[in-house]
Amino acid sequence: MMNNTYFTLEHITDGVWAAIVVPGSGALGNAAILDLGDVTVVVDTFMLPQAGDLLRQAAVQLTGREVEYVINTHFHGDHHYGNQSFPDSIIVSTDATRDYLFGLGDIDYEKWRIAIREQITSLSDTRSKQTDQHVISALTTEIADKEVLYGAVPSIRRVVATVTIPDRFVIHGSQRTAEVMTWGGGHTLSDAFVYIPENEVLIAGDLVLGQSHLMMLHGNIEEWLGILERMEQELEIKRIVPGHGPVTDAQSIREAKNYLRDVEVYAKQAEESGQPLEYWLEKGVLKPYGQWYSSHVFEWNFRHLYKYNQIAKLI
Ligand SMILES: [Zn+2]
Repeated sequence: MMNNTYFTLEHITDGVWAAIVVPGSGALGNAAILDLGDVTVVVDTFMLPQAGDLLRQAAVQLTGREVEYVINTHFHGDHHYGNQSFPDSIIVSTDATRDYLFGLGDIDYEKWRIAIREQITSLSDTRSKQTDQHVISALTTEIADKEVLYGAVPSIRRVVATVTIPDRFVIHGSQRTAEVMTWGGGHTLSDAFVYIPENEVLIAGDLVLGQSHLMMLHGNIEEWLGILERMEQELEIKRIVPGHGPVTDAQSIREAKNYLRDVEVYAKQAEESGQPLEYWLEKGVLKPYGQWYSSHVFEWNFRHLYKYNQIAKLI
């Protein structure tokens, strides 16, 4: 009933719903709705104000009250461009995420649209040279998401957090608790996640994904691995609402650790081989991950780490 062209609602356990995005719809990053008993919380707000509006409506319908808190897990736009749909809610992020977004200043709409158009051209160009059907389909989805964003740009306002958390912020509801935590940055300079101890549910942002290539361009791999280790050691986890891909469980934390290590080692070997970047790119997506979602992201990660290793050698 509340499903729409942007997301599908999935009831995970008492008081917890995952809003899993429809690929190519432009919503891009998953969100979650929490009913703590007497408080309603939303985690992340998609990449589009129109999807954010529907998320707010769904939260009100499911919980019978307005959204009191909106948590933004990190600075990537697919997790907060829908913030403006929650004008009466308290928006929460880490200090660093807020500082970064606030520091970007006013949006230059013209520049932004030109940049998206250039990205779409570049993605189409990459797609035309691809032979792997799985990567072609992932690129097609990415292009569709970007086209929707392009259309939405004039309507997007940057709404940053009004409350920031140093490391932990706990919302105590009458039936369950939302622990908003940050253990530093891994996927980005600063990543927050939400844990519900009563239900053993983790809303992971992009620190953990469901069978999807993790994006490694803006963070720190060693820090990221440390955060994942800590999640395994300190949190009892039955279900995970990931930032991308379907609802999953603790197995995905182990898979994320393997992925980060495997891609890092692979890029290092490639760089040390003396063969050019193109030689390695022709081999395609690293084998165990060939069927994961967002398979085009593998090439981004690989190029990034390969170049990073080259630069590191010069210093
Ligand atoms: Zn992200």
